[in-house]
Amino acid sequence: MSVPCTHLDQINDVTPRTPEGCEECLQAGDSWVHLRLCLTCGHVGCCDSSKNKHATKHFHATEHPIVQSFQPGEDWVWCYVDEVYLQPGG
Ligand SMILES: [Zn+2]
Ligand SMILES: [Zn+2]
Ligand SMILES: [Zn+2]
Repeated sequence: MSVPCTHLDQINDVTPRTPEGCEECLQAGDSWVHLRLCLTCGHVGCCDSSKNKHATKHFHATEHPIVQSFQPGEDWVWCYVDEVYLQPGG
C-alpha cells in the first residue's frame, strides 16, 4: 500500500513531554480545546480550534511534520506538509 507521505521516517517512539496539556498554554496559564502530539519530539500542543494553535506553531518553528491526536479515543495521524491523514501502524 502506498502512503502519500514521505515523512514517516520522522516518526519516533515519543513520550509526551507534557501529558497534562499543551506545553506553551500550561506555561502561560492559558486554555485549549484539543491536543496534538508531535510524533518527532513528543511536544504536546493545542489544535487549530484553540486560540493559540500551538501545535501548528510548533510545526512552523521546528518543521516536525507529523502529529497525532492526543484526545482519548482518537488515534488519527496528520502530516502538515502533505496535508493527509495517515493510518497509524499501517
Ligand atoms: Zn508527509
Ligand atoms: Zn497551546
Ligand atoms: Zn516536535
